[in-house]
Amino acid sequence: MSNSILVVGGGFSGLTAAIEAAELGYDVYIVEKTPFLGGRVAQLNKYFPKLCPPSCGLEIQFQRIRKNPRIKFFTQAELVSVSGNKGKYKAKVRIQPRHTVPHSVDLGLLASTLEGESPNEFEFGLTNRKALYRSMPFAFPGRYVLDPAALSTKDKIKLANAGGCLLDEEPRELELEVGSIVIATGWKPYDVTRLTNLGAGSIKNCVSNMQLERLASPFGPTKGIVKRPSDGRAPRSVAFVQCAGSRDQNHLNFCSYICCMASLKQALYLSEQDPDIRVTIFYIDLRTPGRYMNVLEKVKAAPNVRFVKGKVAEITENSATGDVVLVAEDAVRGEKLTLTYDMVVLATGMQPTLAGEHLPLPVAVDEDGFVVSGEDAGIFAAGCARMPLDVMRCAQSGTSAAMKAVQTVKGR
Ligand code: SF4
Repeated sequence: MSNSILVVGGGFSGLTAAIEAAELGYDVYIVEKTPFLGGRVAQLNKYFPKLCPPSCGLEIQFQRIRKNPRIKFFTQAELVSVSGNKGKYKAKVRIQPRHTVPHSVDLGLLASTLEGESPNEFEFGLTNRKALYRSMPFAFPGRYVLDPAALSTKDKIKLANAGGCLLDEEPRELELEVGSIVIATGWKPYDVTRLTNLGAGSIKNCVSNMQLERLASPFGPTKGIVKRPSDGRAPRSVAFVQCAGSRDQNHLNFCSYICCMASLKQALYLSEQDPDIRVTIFYIDLRTPGRYMNVLEKVKAAPNVRFVKGKVAEITENSATGDVVLVAEDAVRGEKLTLTYDMVVLATGMQPTLAGEHLPLPVAVDEDGFVVSGEDAGIFAAGCARMPLDVMRCAQSGTSAAMKAVQTVKGR
């Protein structure tokens, strides 16, 4: 019997669950598959409800983790198998090598001298990253990670002489004994290459809403100034395409809950950058739950933002200018519109990370990939592993999962 808790996923829900359980006196292990904690929130420019930058909420959580010896976390780590049952699970975890020395050494200067690069996953491919990198300035843990596959031959020679990097480090496995498990595996943006009528990800100035978050972030590839990826020009006209892949039987057959709010927030980013920018939001329905109604009222009152109720049928590119041509219907006026914009933003939905993935746990997922069972086995889903949620509700869901996990292991 074990009174430890395993949290799978180190995003906002998982961190909240881990901290709440640890602060109640339980040992917690976090297993996170990327090199840094913070999940999707770390990639946002600002998040609801207060439109804080991610450094604000995450830094508080990172501090609580640093100060709490009951929390142990493993990054670049994946759950390989789980045996046993409620109260006495054995979880095998595989940890990929970080290839850098374990103590905190600033490898920034060395990183900047390397020539090897790879597409930057954290920036959704908007830019490249060095082979030796951190995702962002407030990345936690602060240790650099080395991607040996991105090194050139010259880089390898340089690293062999420089110190600080461990090219021969091997993956390792460990076994954790836990009484309960929280699944906080989060979400991934819907794959835009499947949206063939909306450019299938091949039009440079047609970006996803998460790419726009990176363009608007002061730590992003354009240092917080939204610019067109094709030519670096600040856009004067931008269209948002709502429900891009959501509420569609051929893609995500559900409402992604947060993408209306995301577009309203991003319309505000653009208006702050350029009060004269022309923004058009093409929508089917606008979903602004609870007090978020205020944000809709604020954006509706802005003279530079126009709302068009109607579905976007097609997006193409003017190859001479890089402008984006959008064909839509205006359902209120009964008109077909063909309009040209400097940039288009696809309000892509959130797909659970587990969609199409295998998680070695005795839980069921529905046809969309959301976890729908497991509680009888002491396994509790939190955040967007359960359903599409905003950050505030992810935190509530993480707390709720932690309380259930604590009840499961209490007294064991
Ligand atoms: Fe569409 Fe808005 Fe629902 Fe997102 S939140 S799927 S944009 S209705």
